[in-house]
Amino acid sequence: MTEYMETKENRVFLHICCGPCSLMPVVHLRKEGFNVTAFFFNPNIHPEEEYGLRRDSAQLAAEKLDYPLVFAGDALKPAQWIRELNGVTQEGERCVSCYRQRLLPVALEAKRRGFDFFTTSLLYSRYQHHEAICQVAEQVARETGVSFLYRDFRPYWYEGINLSKELGLYRQKWCGCLLSRKEAEIQRAERAELKRRKALARMASVA
Ligand code: SF4
Repeated sequence: MTEYMETKENRVFLHICCGPCSLMPVVHLRKEGFNVTAFFFNPNIHPEEEYGLRRDSAQLAAEKLDYPLVFAGDALKPAQWIRELNGVTQEGERCVSCYRQRLLPVALEAKRRGFDFFTTSLLYSRYQHHEAICQVAEQVARETGVSFLYRDFRPYWYEGINLSKELGLYRQKWCGCLLSRKEAEIQRAERAELKRRKALARMASVA
């Protein structure tokens, strides 16, 4: 087990939503000398079985990299969140409220536990809206008095993918919400159709 000297200044509360995205934030924050405690929180994962898969992959990642992981008591409220969107369902726009729904409880939990800093593994994903995450996190920091520790983990994207495969972690196929699942299904169907058409065109050209 790795020993980390803990001081109040180097303790950071890291929000995570799955195992794979937690890896690079933990690895690189530790390299900087931070003592990381992770907090699994995403009430917006659909459906419930998927929530379980991601929670378990977060648990496995924490065991493999040996970092403390805490879970939120209550979790799934995707239907409530969709109602609260009031029709703002466009990807990007809806994500802002989704980030806030996660980061405000994260900062409050960090405060309750005596952390001076919080950050999030959302900053690792190339598919998230990085600037919007920062804006929401800064706002939440102002509201709660807990500082937001900004880091750009995106340059470690492939390093994280490789490590997640090496560790045998479950890798999700959509962001989280019901809408993102539907969008991912449509994209997969479009890619399959494109592949089919290309194959037909190739066959026609050699016939
Ligand atoms: S796509 Fe992802 S970030 Fe955006 S609303 Fe859905 S779960 Fe939240």
